[in-house]
Amino acid sequence: MHNRSPGNLKICSRCILPETFPGIKFDDQGICNYCRKEQKALQKSVEKKAQYRRRLDDLINDIKGKAPLYDAVMAYSGGKDSSYTLKLIKEQYRLKLLAITFDNHFVSPMAWENIRTVTNTLEVDHISFRPPWPVAKKIFSLTAQRDIFPRPTLLRASAVCTSCMGMVKGVVLRTALEMKIPLVAFGWSPGQAPIHSAILKTNPKLIRQNQMAFGNALPEDIRKELKPYFIPEVYYQEYADSFPYNIHPLAFFDYDEEEIMSEMRELGWRPPEDTDTNSTNCLLNAFANQCHIDRHGFHPYVWEIANMVRQGVVDRDEGIAKIYSPQDPDMVKYAKEKLGL
Ligand SMILES: [Zn+2]
Repeated sequence: MHNRSPGNLKICSRCILPETFPGIKFDDQGICNYCRKEQKALQKSVEKKAQYRRRLDDLINDIKGKAPLYDAVMAYSGGKDSSYTLKLIKEQYRLKLLAITFDNHFVSPMAWENIRTVTNTLEVDHISFRPPWPVAKKIFSLTAQRDIFPRPTLLRASAVCTSCMGMVKGVVLRTALEMKIPLVAFGWSPGQAPIHSAILKTNPKLIRQNQMAFGNALPEDIRKELKPYFIPEVYYQEYADSFPYNIHPLAFFDYDEEEIMSEMRELGWRPPEDTDTNSTNCLLNAFANQCHIDRHGFHPYVWEIANMVRQGVVDRDEGIAKIYSPQDPDMVKYAKEKLGL
C-alpha cells in the first residue's frame, strides 16, 4: 500500500486524506483518525441504508400526488450525480418533478446539452435561474481570493463552491415554499453528505440559521444584490407549516460509478470533455480547486473522495488520481481570466 501521494505528501493508507488535512493523525499502520472514527458507522451502513430506503418509501407514499404543482423539486446541475438522482426519483417513484438549474455563468456547454437531453427524456419540467454577471463575478472573485466562510465548511468544499451552493440552496428552497412543493432533492454523492442528514425535515428555525450563516459571511453589497437567493423574513411565518423535506438519496441507494455512467449514457447524457476531473458540469471548478489548494495545502474534494474510498464506492488508486493530479492549467486560466484576476 503506497502511503505517499504523487506530489510526495504522506497520505492515509486507507482513505487518501493527506498529512496537510486539518486535525489529521496517523497510527502505526498509517491509518488516519478519521478512518478510525468512521469504522463503527461503516459496519452498520448496509442496515442503515435499507432503513433510509424504507423511510423514503414511507415519506413518498405520504406526499405523492397531494401538492398542487409538483411532488418534488430537484437542484439540478446537469452533472452526473444530480442527473442520476433525477432519474432515480423519477423512475423509482413516478413523481411529478421540477428541476432547477442555478446558472453560475460557468455551466459548461456540454452540461447544458445534458440538461436539455435528460429533462426531455425523463419528461421533467425545467427552469434555470441566473444572477447578472457583475454580481456573479463579484462573489466568485471574492471567494476565489478569500475564505469568507466558517472554517469547518472549508474542510469539505472550496469557498467558491460554498458560495455557489448557498445560492443554489436558497433559490431551490424559496421555489419549494412558493410552489408548495413538499420535497427538495439534491444529488450529493455518498461522500459529500452524511447519511444521517439524507432525509431531513426542514423548519423555519433551522433554515434561518443556515441562511444567516451564509448571509453574514457575505459583504453587505453582495448580500443586497443576492436578495432573491435568500428566504425573505416574512416567509418564516407565512410558510411556517410548509417547510419541505430535504433528501439526498445517493447516500442510501447503491452507488456504482460504472453502473451510473452506463445508465446515464442510455438516457442520452454524455460525459463532458470540457470540465475537470472532479466536476461534470462546472467550468469554474478547476480554478476554485487551485485557489483552495494554494491556500490550504489540500484538495477541496479530498474529504468527499476519501469518504467514498472508505465506503468502497471509489477505488483507492482512482481516488488518488482524481485528487492528486494537477488542475488543468487551461481551465484554471479560463476561469481566472473571466473573473478578471
Ligand atoms: Zn484515513
